[in-house]
Parts: sequence; C-alpha cells; structure tokens
Amino acid sequence: METTRPPVLDDAVGTSASLARVAEGDLCTGCGGCAGLYPTALTMRMTDPGFLRPVQVAPLPVGADEAIAATCPGLGQTVTAQGRQDDPLWGPWRSVWTGWSTDEEQRFKGASGGALTALLTHLLRAGVVEAVVQNAPDPENPVGNRTVLTDDPAAFAVTAGSRYAPSAPLDMLPDILADGRRVAFVGKPCDAAALAAMRARDPAIARTIPVIVSFFCGGIPSETGAKEVLSALGVTPDQLESFRYRGKGWPGRATATLKDGSSADMTYHASWGGILSKHVQHRCKICADGTGMAADLVCADAWDVDARGYPTFDERPGESLVLARTSLGEQIAQGAEAAGRLTLKSFDMGTLAAIQPGQRNRRRALRARLAALRILRKPVPVYRGLHLRAASRQNDVRTNLRNFLGTLRRALRP
Ligand SMILES: Cc1cc2nc3c(=O)[nH]c(=O)nc-3n(C[C@H](O)[C@H](O)[C@H](O)COP(=O)(O)OP(=O)(O)OC[C@H]3O[C@@H](n4cnc5c(N)ncnc54)[C@H](O)[C@@H]3O)c2cc1C
Ligand code: SF4
Ligand code: SF4
Repeated sequence: METTRPPVLDDAVGTSASLARVAEGDLCTGCGGCAGLYPTALTMRMTDPGFLRPVQVAPLPVGADEAIAATCPGLGQTVTAQGRQDDPLWGPWRSVWTGWSTDEEQRFKGASGGALTALLTHLLRAGVVEAVVQNAPDPENPVGNRTVLTDDPAAFAVTAGSRYAPSAPLDMLPDILADGRRVAFVGKPCDAAALAAMRARDPAIARTIPVIVSFFCGGIPSETGAKEVLSALGVTPDQLESFRYRGKGWPGRATATLKDGSSADMTYHASWGGILSKHVQHRCKICADGTGMAADLVCADAWDVDARGYPTFDERPGESLVLARTSLGEQIAQGAEAAGRLTLKSFDMGTLAAIQPGQRNRRRALRARLAALRILRKPVPVYRGLHLRAASRQNDVRTNLRNFLGTLRRALRP
C-alpha cells in the first residue's frame, strides 16, 4: 500500500490545483473519474488505510485542472430539479415504488430485492443498451472490487449484491469509449454525479453512456474494515476463496468461503453496523448526495422499521426501493415491469425518511458538519441545489450543535 501524497505542486505545469485541494481536505470519493479522463497521467491505487486514490504518474495536459474541477465529486456537486418534484432530503424525482426481480435467483442473490439487476437485464434484453458497466468481486482479492463491462445477463449472477469496499468504476472510461457500444453505467451516487458532469461536457460520453443507475450509499469503508470482518470471522486473507458482503437472502449474511470448502459468516448488522461503518472514508461523512441524484434510476433497501424507527434486518424475501429520477428512468422501470422482469408496488415518498434513518440523519446534520470544517479552514465540497439549509431545519438546534461539536472534535484530533 502507498500513503496518499497530495499532488501539490503549486502552479507547476502538469499538475492540478484541484487534485491538491481534494487531497488536502481528504475529499476524494474514489470514483476514478480523474484517472478515467487522464489515464496516462493518473492511476487509481490502493492507499493506506485501504482506499482507492488517484496517484500522479506523469504530467497532466493543459486544461486538465479545469476539467477535473468541473467533474470531481470530491470538490462538489450541482443539482437542478428541471421541473421535477424536488424533496429537501431526497432530491429531484419522478416516480417511486418498492419492488423485486421476478427471477427468483436474482431476488435471492441481490443485495435487497434484485431490482437493480432486473433493470439491467431489461436494458440489455430490450436493446436499450448493448452492454453494462458494473462492479464484481476481484478474483485476486475476494473482499475487493473490479469493474466489468458485460453484455451477458448470465454475468449478473456474479455482479449482484452490494460490496462495501472501494470501487473506482470511472477509471474504466477509456475502455468504455474504446469499446464503442452503448452502455448503462452502475455506480455509487458520487460516481453517478461525476459521470453526469462529464456527460454535460463531452457529447461522446453522453452518447456512449445514455443510462446511469445508482443505489443509496451510506459510505465506502476502507479495505482495513474488510480485513477486520475477516479477522472477526477467524479467517486469514490467504485462506479466502470468495467473499460476499451480503445477499443470498435479505439482508443476507457476510460470508467468507474458504479454499478448503468451509465457510464462516456473520449477520449484516454485525458486519456493517459493528465493523465496516466505523471505517468509512471522511468524504462520505460529509456527503450531500448518498441517494443518486444524478442517476436515472436508483435502488435501495426498502427496510421494515421497528417502533423506535430503526430497520429490523429480519431475514425475509428481498424488497428494493426503486426510485425513478428522470423520465428515462421511469420508462425503463415501467418497461421492465411490462416485460415481466420486475414486480413494482406503489410507495409513499413521505415514508422514506422513516425507513432510511442513516441517509435522513446525515442529510439533516450536513450543514452543521460543514460549518465546523469551514471554521477550521478545511476544504469542503461546494454543494449547489442540494437544500442543505432546508434539510438542517428538520433537526432541532441541539442535534445540529452536537453534530457541529462532534465534527470539530474529530477534525482537531491529532
Ligand atoms: C457501499 C454501499 C453502501 C450502501 N448504503 C446503502 C444505504 O445507506 N441505504 C440503502 O438503502 N442501501 C444502501 N446500499 C444499497 C443496497 O445495498 C442495494 O444495493 C440496493 O438496495 C439495491 O439492491 P438490489 O438487490 O436491487 O441490487 P442488486 O441486484 O444486488 O445489484 C447491485 C448492483 O450494485 C453494484 N455494486 C455493488 N457494490 C458496488 C460498489 N461497491 N460500487 C459500485 N457498484 C457496486 C453491483 O455491481 C450490482 O450491479 C449500499 C450499497 C453499497 C455498495
Ligand atoms: S473524487 Fe474522483 S475525480 Fe475526484 S480526485 Fe477522487 S477519484 Fe479523482
Ligand atoms: S457516501 Fe457519498 S461520497 Fe461516499 S461513496 Fe457513497 S456516494 Fe460516494
């Protein structure tokens, strides 16, 4: 592993002040967008304590800093509702349902109801796109991710399920453009935001990638988090044959399969809540868009909650939230339903805050957290159109103060 070193080099030719700012504020989401735009100058590498970060290996061309400044989600995000309903917490949207794949295997293997995989299957089968870019387990590092370009729905048996580990799907951009086929892109909300910004600047990217699919995202843990899960399971990395973070049921168990054929597992609550969530990168704690506002379609867990408002995580047949943010997304979801690939049930958007406490609380706390970082003169992302003030007003003053002081304390910790 390498230690992240900011590519600070003042105004020197071939460097990027924007990347230096990202590194100074620890704002990188690990999307891979900058490396995808400038593959000969930047490469994504695993850096201590286990996050994917751009490392400069050659000078950047003239104009690179401007392009990175306009597209890097670490530096900020702009959202425009353009006539859509626009919720202060959830952003612009057109239609919302809960649902699941009608293919029992997809529903079982999927992180929640396999709805996202059913949508991808429909996109390929209906010829809306010719291939799909998504993430799969890395065969050389079963707790890690690799990005794959596939035109075969049979591959979805491997790609389904959430993997709580770094992924940098946009560093595959040169391969996607060289491939030349029309593709749907699946990525984290920050990946979706970076891609949408790139599409707005480059018609070739917009033509090649007409569909963006995302999922709600509570944050990316470092690879150290995954190693801690393995250690809690009594498994060493060299014993590992394959690893699932969840899925095979809803929410399913974190499961390590060993080379000797045996396996060890733990609940989703123990793996995500007890270990992985404590290793989430700094940028995720100040993320204004964990719900894919730049995507056409977004899937999430349609959790059941207990009387206190916390998800129950009781094992049951999977159910995804399916949120169409654009007219295109709406058409794709309805097309998948009409083709018999997806079951959709109506959902009341007014109940979303109750079943997504993590997303709700982070949105409401964000303004206070950013204020604490600004006071310390730390670089923070610039968010436009994300209603931070309206979201923070949904918190009482005490909760905002607690978040402000908590962020201040953490930022001052040596
Ligand atoms: C890091 C992370 C955090 C999440 N946080 C939340 C949350 O706070 N609230 C919530 O409701 N849901 C969250 N989810 C989403 C949730 O786990 C499911 O992805 C979602 O419910 C859709 O399930 P599905 O069964 O419809 O999708 P599936 O059919 O299982 O398809 C999942 C798709 O996601 C892709 N994928 C998996 N992991 C990654 C990754 N690391 N990077 C890029 N693509 C990936 C796969 O390639 C696949 O295409 C998170 C997912 C991830 C990966
Ligand atoms: S957030 Fe993405 S574009 Fe920005 S520095 Fe990190 S990898 Fe590059
Ligand atoms: S929480 Fe936000 S910044 Fe972090 S990985 Fe998810 S979408 Fe990206």
